[in-house]
Amino acid sequence: MSIVTRFAPSPTGALHLGHAWSAVQAHSRAREAGGRFLLRIEDIDGTRSRPEHVEGILADLRWLGLDWDGEVVFQSQRLALYADALARLEAMGLVYRCICTRADIAAAASAPHGVGGVVYPGTCRGRSIDPARPHCWRLDMGRAIERAGPLDWTDEIAGTVAADPAMHGDVVLARKDAPSSYHLAVTVDDAAQGVSHVIRGRDLFEATHVHRLLQALLGLPTPVYRHHALLAGPDGERLAKRHGAPSLADLRAGGMDGKTLAMDLKAGRLPLGFGAMNA
Ligand code: GLU
Repeated sequence: MSIVTRFAPSPTGALHLGHAWSAVQAHSRAREAGGRFLLRIEDIDGTRSRPEHVEGILADLRWLGLDWDGEVVFQSQRLALYADALARLEAMGLVYRCICTRADIAAAASAPHGVGGVVYPGTCRGRSIDPARPHCWRLDMGRAIERAGPLDWTDEIAGTVAADPAMHGDVVLARKDAPSSYHLAVTVDDAAQGVSHVIRGRDLFEATHVHRLLQALLGLPTPVYRHHALLAGPDGERLAKRHGAPSLADLRAGGMDGKTLAMDLKAGRLPLGFGAMNA
C-alpha cells in the first residue's frame, strides 16, 4: 500500500515546536516509505484564519526542510465538497438546524460536560426551524449511530479502538459563519486526498470517534491513525502559544538551524527541558 500522510494546520496563529514535532513525524513516515506527504491549510474559520499565518506556516516548513508533494490545499476553496457531504447527510435525515446561542446551551440546566466542554442538550432536535433564520447544522448523533452500527478504527499506538462518538453529542457540522466544521471538512478531505495514515497529536484522539462515524455514513474509507504524544514545555504543561511557547519563527529569528531541529525531532531528541506527554 502506498503511504500518504498530511500536515493540516489551521492558520490561526504561529506554529510552535509541537507543530514541528507533528509535521516531522508525518513527513518522515511518508518519506521513509517512498510515499507522499501533503500540506493542507485548514482555513474554514474565516474569522480566525489569517494570510500572514499561512505565509508563516510555509516559511516554517521550508526552514525545517519538510518538502510537501503537489499543491498546497486550502479548505476555504473546497466548500462545495463539504456542502455536498452535508446535503447527503440531510437527505438521510441525520442532521438538523439549530438556532441556539452559546449562552442558550450553557444555560440549559441539564447540559452534561463532554470532551469539548458542554454536550448540546438537543434543544432544536425535532423542532421546525425557519431556514431564513441564522442557524448551524448539527448531527443527530443517536440516529447516526443507529444507522452506522458498531464501528472501530485502528490506531498504531492505541490498537483497535471501538468508536464511541456518543460522548460528543450532536456535534456541529456546519456553522452560521463557516460552511463546514472541522469534523466534516477533515473527514471529507482525508478521503478525497487519499490519506492512508493520519498522524496527529493525541489531543485529537477523541475527535476520531466522530470522524469514523462520518466515514461510515458517507461511505468513505478509514485511514490508519497514529495519535502521537504531545510535547510538554519545561513547566510540564502542554505546549501551546498561551503558555508562552516560543514560535518556530522566534526560533528561526534566534538563529536556530531548522534542518538540524527537524533531524533531532525525528530521532526523538527533544530540545532541553521539553518532554513527550500524553493528553
Ligand atoms: N487543523 C487542525 C489543527 O490545527 C488539525 C487537523 C488534523 O490534523 O486532523 O489543530
